[in-house]
Formats: sequence, structure tokens, C-alpha cells
Amino acid sequence: MAKVAGVTVDTDHWIGGERVGSAAAFTDLSPIDERPVAEVARGGAAEAEAAVTAAARAFPAWSRTSREERARILHAIADGVDKRLEELAQVETADNGALIRSHRRGVMPRVAHNFRFFADWLLRLGHEDFETRGHRNHVSWDPAGVCALITPWNAPLMLATWKVAPALAAGNTVVLKPAEWSPLTASLLADIAAEAGLPDGVLNVVQGYGEEVGAPLVAHPDVRRISFTGSVPTARSIAAAAAPNLTPLSLELGGKSPLLVFADADLDLAADLAVEQYDNAGQVCLAATRLLVDASVAAEFTERLLDRVGRLVQGDPRDEATDIGPQIHRRHFERVDGFVRRAAAAGARTLAGGGPNTDLGGLYYRPTLFTDVPEGAEILAEEVFGPVLTLQTFTTEEQAVAMANATRYGLAATVATGDPERAARVSGRLVAGTVWVNCFFVRDLRAPFGGSRESGVGREGGDWSFDFYCDLKNTVTAP
Ligand code: NAD
Repeated sequence: MAKVAGVTVDTDHWIGGERVGSAAAFTDLSPIDERPVAEVARGGAAEAEAAVTAAARAFPAWSRTSREERARILHAIADGVDKRLEELAQVETADNGALIRSHRRGVMPRVAHNFRFFADWLLRLGHEDFETRGHRNHVSWDPAGVCALITPWNAPLMLATWKVAPALAAGNTVVLKPAEWSPLTASLLADIAAEAGLPDGVLNVVQGYGEEVGAPLVAHPDVRRISFTGSVPTARSIAAAAAPNLTPLSLELGGKSPLLVFADADLDLAADLAVEQYDNAGQVCLAATRLLVDASVAAEFTERLLDRVGRLVQGDPRDEATDIGPQIHRRHFERVDGFVRRAAAAGARTLAGGGPNTDLGGLYYRPTLFTDVPEGAEILAEEVFGPVLTLQTFTTEEQAVAMANATRYGLAATVATGDPERAARVSGRLVAGTVWVNCFFVRDLRAPFGGSRESGVGREGGDWSFDFYCDLKNTVTAP
């Protein structure tokens, strides 16, 4: 048990409807002051095994529960999230250092929405019928079984519930493994689900390090789906672990997304979109970290962007006035700093930031903007996952598209232009799971979400989530 921001959080695993401890524990540190927030159960192979067993045992009954009953319980979970919204917001901010104001007004309401959305989507899922020579082909969505859901630290509960909600709605049982840097709100979710009447063993939460508890979980032969959000190197290990069992995988990975600013764009809007890329202190997979700007408006755009960067308030994420909080962890902070130092050493020119915020100390890193980056520099290719943007210029649309696509990622792209024809032309040619035109970060859960190339495999959202979490079956009946 831990008391975090005044909220009691159980730091044991949640397996088969019971709190289960481990002999070992790990220390969860606060990104705000690097002090311990909680001692959390450090699971391993035994806990992974116990959780999969509990989920497998709960599967037959849950998978046969009527759609209406599953939807009712998911709605009750959403109500529970709403009721504990402030507590969830406070705990997540203490745990991962993201802004309290976005947790209160954006993230946690959307967490509740995720459950309501997938509950309602379940009720409208069709049963398709086709006829062949008098035979009836009846297509149904059968739940797949035990799902292992592995999530990262940058938006812990939001990303977990994009998986948990459709997996449960589809009639599966779940083992959720949150990231070790932000383990706490997953535990609160287990409490909320139990209070909402979710049967024991349907949702299990195991805590611990990826290599210790995550690895045996994804290698388990009784796991029928693995859904992972995180980094490319981890995705590779998970895919290798899944291969012997041929476990179907959904992978939501990193990005190095572009923001294309054309000469015909509203430059204030374009600068607003650019400064938004520092949200969550840059720890956003979708962030458009490569600003590609028409050379004819680059000076004007840069001036407007720097003005906005200069007005960003960096500080304690618990303060409503703060725009940029800390990096999640000392190790991550140093990784970000390494990228910045190497970019500067390679000859990139620093227009803003360029190092830690020494006024604040701790894990606060200044919003950084580089230009004149030499071709082939690491900073143009690798995902930094911190508040670091690069600015490059182009002279033709052709060149802009080529630069945008010159990455091994393909998660998202943003286009700022005042010309609808150009918008259609350019978005058609961009390699990206999501293209935003004159906007950013708008997500409709009915639409597919995911990445191309190394940004991922598969799509989440609407029918795509149910496609993944179900075994589709065709029953052919003779006349
Ligand atoms: P990570 O890959 O280090 O860890 C993610 C999760 O995987 C954690 O829970 C970790 O414990 C677990 N894990 C680690 N090794 C494992 C193993 N061998 N087997 C099973 N599980 C294991 O990623 P991170 O640092 O937590 O998150 C940042 C990354 O996530 C960035 O690359 C970011 O772009 C990406 N991300 C992608 C999306 C998206 O939707 N595409 C969203 C958010 C973050």
C-alpha cells in the first residue's frame, strides 16, 4: 500500500480478484522531485503464470456473458473512473509527471469515454450474413481468449484503456502489465473494475520490470493476443517471444513525425501546431518533431514559434499554470540530453533551449529547437521522446513530401496549408497512420489508429479493435 497525493494505492499485483504480493519490490520514483512515491511488487515468471492461469480460468464464463451485460459492466467502470477522476489525475501526475490540468480535463475524461465507447460499439457490432448457392454464411466475432496488454509510461491509463476496454468488451480476459516507471493508475483501475462488478480473473494486473514479468507473459502459450505500446527494440523482443506460439500481435510504436508548413499556411496556426509538439514535455509518440517549412516563410514562422516557446511556463506539473513538466526519469532525461549534445556537436544550431532547465533543476529539460542540422545527423532520424524539435526548410512540394517520408517510421504527419487541394494531394502521399491537416491530436475512436513501417503493426479503434481481439468465425449452413 502507498499513499500517493493523498490517495491510497495498492501496490501489489491484482490476480484472480485478489491482491498478491511478491518477495521483491521496486521503487517507483517521482519525476517531480525524484523522491520515492511507492514500493511496488516486483513480479516475475511466477506472477505472470498465476495471472495467465487466473485469466484462462475466468475466460469461459466471461466470454459467454451477454453483450448487454458486458456493456453494462464497462459503463459501470466508466462511471467509477468519473467518480474517482480527481484521484486518478493526482496519482498519474505524481507518478509520471504529466500535467494535472491535462489529466483533469483531457486524459481522465477520455479514459472513461474509452470504456463507454467500446461498450456501445460492442452493442452495434453486426453479424454479417452472406448467401452462397442457398447456403447461409454467418460471420460472428468470437472472443480470442487471454490477452496480454503491455503499456508504456507516457500516458499510462489512456493507453491501457485503449486496449483493456475493447479486449473486455469483446469477451476476452486480460493481463495488464503497466510500465515500471508509472505503475499506479493501473492498480486503481483494478479497484474500479472490481467495484463495477467485473468478475474475478477477468482483469488482472501484474507489476514489475519488462524483462522480468513482461517477457514470460508474452511468451506464455495460453496467451492468445498480445497488444503492446512502447518502443521498437522492445517490440522486436516481444515479436520474437510471440513467434513460437504464433500469438497475434498488435504493436503501437515510436515515431519521428513531420509537421509540414507550406507557404500558403496560416502561420499563426502553424506556429500553434508546432509549439503543441512540446506537450507532455515532448514524451508523445505522435509528436511532430521534424518541422519542415517552406523556405520563403521560414523566418516568419520561426519568429512566431520562438515567441510561443518563450511564453511556455515550465514547472511543477501539479500547478495548473504549467505548460511543460519534467522528464519521467533520470535515465530518460540523460538519454534526451545525450541526443541534444550530440546534435549540437554535429553542428546543429540551437534556436531555443539546448539543455536542462538549471533554474528548476531535477528532471526539467528546456524546450529545444534546432536548425541548420547537417544532413544525416542522428537527431533527424532517431526518436528522442523529449522536448526537442528540428527545423528544416524545403522549396518545393515534391521535396517536402520526400523529406517527410525520409524516415523508417510512419506514425503520424501534420500538414499546415491554406490550399485544400494541396492538403489532399500531400496527405495522399505521406506514409503515416494518421495525417492531420491544420490540426493536431484529434482522435475519433471510430477511426483506425496505428503506424506504418517501424511505427507499428495493426490498427486500434472501432471495428479494427474488435477485429484484433476476436477470432472471426464463418458458420456455413446448408439450405
Ligand atoms: P518500452 O518499450 O521501454 O516499454 C514499454 C513496456 O514494455 C513497459 O511496460 C515495459 O516494462 C515493457 N517491456 C520491456 N521489455 C519487455 C519485454 N522483453 N517483454 C515484455 N514487455 C517488456 O517503452 P517506453 O519507454 O515505456 O515507452 C516509450 C515508447 O513508447 C516510445 O518509443 C514511444 O514512441 C512509444 N509509444 C507509442 C505509442 C503509440 O501509440 N504508437 C504511444 C505511446 C508511446
